[in-house]
Amino acid sequence: MSGFDVQRVREDFPILRQEVRGRPLVYLDSAATSQKPQAVIDAIVRFYQHDNANVHRGVHVLSERSTEAYEGARETVRRFINARDAKEIIFVRGTTEAINLVAQTYGRKHLGPGDEVLITHIEHHANIVPWRMLCEQTGAVLKVIPVDERGELKLDEADAMMTERTRILAVSHVSNALGTVTPVKELTRRAHAKGIPVLVDGAQAVTHFPVDVQDIGCDFYAFSGHKMFGPTGIGVLYGRMERLEPLPPYQGGGDMILSVTMEKVTYNRVPHRFEAGTPDLAGAVGLAAAIRYLESLGMANVAAHDQELLAYATQALESVPGLRIVGQAREKSAVLSFLLEDIHPHDVGTILDREGICIRTGHHCAQPVMQFFKVPATSRASLALYNTREDVDALVRGLHKVLEVFK
Ligand code: PMP
Repeated sequence: MSGFDVQRVREDFPILRQEVRGRPLVYLDSAATSQKPQAVIDAIVRFYQHDNANVHRGVHVLSERSTEAYEGARETVRRFINARDAKEIIFVRGTTEAINLVAQTYGRKHLGPGDEVLITHIEHHANIVPWRMLCEQTGAVLKVIPVDERGELKLDEADAMMTERTRILAVSHVSNALGTVTPVKELTRRAHAKGIPVLVDGAQAVTHFPVDVQDIGCDFYAFSGHKMFGPTGIGVLYGRMERLEPLPPYQGGGDMILSVTMEKVTYNRVPHRFEAGTPDLAGAVGLAAAIRYLESLGMANVAAHDQELLAYATQALESVPGLRIVGQAREKSAVLSFLLEDIHPHDVGTILDREGICIRTGHHCAQPVMQFFKVPATSRASLALYNTREDVDALVRGLHKVLEVFK
């Protein structure tokens, strides 16, 4: 594969060079959080060693440098998702905060009793609970686009669910529990035809394939740094300027104001209006380094690697007796949720852990989709750009061990 050598890529990730439980570490839990390349770790250390000071308003050299680094990171994010303007990039703590921000600004402004919020059955709790809370606050109603047995959205039902009362459609780009890739561009086209704004939860997408927010056409796009090889504590809300401009602030505090008297506050312009208090400066610097790292590999190469490995892993898992993959969408990202006979996923995960293999077990913060498939939990192996066929082979060997233990 041109420009992509997974063995070279692995050398960039120091954490992978270790043994756990006396075995080489096999990390298959990147959908929960990804590992960090040395370039990201170095960028954070360099920031604290050389440039750290609070941003904006500073007159001294370090404040100038840190402001440049922080605002430079905003531009790097803009380029990465092809937003029109860096002002459309708001730094937040992560996807969760991005969605809460939209729910509590756009939602509180535009929703009233009887209005509708439309989500889907495959959402992560981060794209359910903020809307549920908003509905409780405003008297609006939560509507849910159903899913089919493959784990795909029932698009034919989506149209009828977009009514004249629908005030927003919020949908994930990739399901963290099933790996389903949803047709966000098509959904946005249909929603916009009815004047409905669209928020896309891209937490599991930006790490696996190129994302172009202008091409999708969505109004808001949310993602987390830590899932895309950047640090924890930083994430992004993209919003189209014409959507962001009229919104009230989210939190109050320093940096989000133009002037304050005890009687009256005037709010700052976008994006600063939504960034109250000292932001995660080193986090933004680390996120920008993660983006540069991904760009150096090429997102098209990353996508090709992930798809090739997903195909290999799907076939390999299907060869394990008694294993059933939950979620078989025709367009999938590198997530494999599965059940092994009637062995509890926690037992599967515990035995794999003894072999040095890290997977996730449980409901994956997506209880409604588990309820749809009538399972309380699954085992989930998730793949990233540093995973290899050998990792998958180790998983399969581990699963055979699980079977031996329980037979
Ligand atoms: N949405 C999806 C699809 C996710 O996978 C996750 C993280 N598991 C989130 C939202 C929440 O992200 P965070 O915890 O980084 O805010």
